[in-house]
Amino acid sequence: MENVYDSITNIIGKTPIIRLNKIENYFNVNNEIYIKAEFLNPGGSIKDRIGKFILEKAKNEGKITEGTVIIEPTSGNTGVGLALTAINKGYKMVFTMPTKVSLEKEILLKALGAFIIRAPTEVAPDAPNSYYKVAEVVKILITKKQRFLNDEELSEIVSFVQSLVNEEKLDELQNILNEKIEDSIYAYIPNQYNNKYNPITHYETTAQELWEQFNGEIDYVFAGIGTGGTITGIAMYLKKVSNTKIIGIDPIGSIYNLVKHGMSVKEAVKHARTYLVEGIGEDIIPATVNLDLIDDIVVVNDQESFSMTRFLAKKEGILAGGSSGSVLFGTLKYLKEKNIRNKKVVLIFPDTGRNYLTKVYDDEWLLKHNLEIDDKKILEVLK
Ligand code: PMP
Repeated sequence: MENVYDSITNIIGKTPIIRLNKIENYFNVNNEIYIKAEFLNPGGSIKDRIGKFILEKAKNEGKITEGTVIIEPTSGNTGVGLALTAINKGYKMVFTMPTKVSLEKEILLKALGAFIIRAPTEVAPDAPNSYYKVAEVVKILITKKQRFLNDEELSEIVSFVQSLVNEEKLDELQNILNEKIEDSIYAYIPNQYNNKYNPITHYETTAQELWEQFNGEIDYVFAGIGTGGTITGIAMYLKKVSNTKIIGIDPIGSIYNLVKHGMSVKEAVKHARTYLVEGIGEDIIPATVNLDLIDDIVVVNDQESFSMTRFLAKKEGILAGGSSGSVLFGTLKYLKEKNIRNKKVVLIFPDTGRNYLTKVYDDEWLLKHNLEIDDKKILEVLK
């Protein structure tokens, strides 16, 4: 039988390529624009790939087994990606996420059986109540029990940590973080920001698929940079076999573009600002990104991203997430500014717009954030 599978995890990856003919015509782009439709992964995003790959590696290396609690700081998509594999292998899940992340993503993760802890968006990554550090707190508390936990026990720990965060008990969180506890089989943080298998996933899968789908003829790849795993893994592979140019897309307020253009990380961090687009941009430089492999970085603001995201849905019937709008806007801006013609250009579209029906696609939400609804002027400059 064709197209029949044993598990949902078997249909992760091998995503199709779609040409954006209507966008090309509308903006008079003299290049071929293709997207890699990562929103068609079963969990709705490119992160299904790393969830599967990273947990397979951890299992093979003896770090996890049935009953292990997988804990991860994630803006949502990585949570879903980990969940698809975790459910199928019998791991439990706790995800910590910043308060700015959409409610849909939280509901989705809970539907998949995960526990969720929300932590403030605005605090520094090394603050004891950041969503990165809160994940470590959970790991320490589980590890201290020295056994596999049932759902009730796990729920108790999660509620306790959430209350410490809510009540801003920073000293208590820090005291837990200060405890020196050895890694155990009971709790595991894949840490997509510091896991070599994150970029390797894309080196092994996404990049090689692209290469085969285009028979080796790709002039440019444009991708957003969150952990940097996608762009770094793709660059690692394509730079080995071709002269493909790799261009990153960065939201204004993130530090990647500043550091790429020569600013020290210490200085760049002072310029970090929050923004609304989800999944791309950072106020740290994670181990999973190699900026040297990225040829250039384009900056895009929230208005540009969201206007383009909504335009794309109406023009091509492709309901993608806000970061896909950022990538498309940044690509068209770059091609126009650099007067690039007759090239094969591939854009990575990381996730589905269904994650953002109450955000990017909601007029009230845009107005609340002082953004224009379907601002055409902003798109006209790309023509
Ligand atoms: N877009 C969205 C919506 C994402 O969730 C992510 C992952 N953080 C990215 C883009 C960027 O991918 P990466 O982490 O591989 O750089």
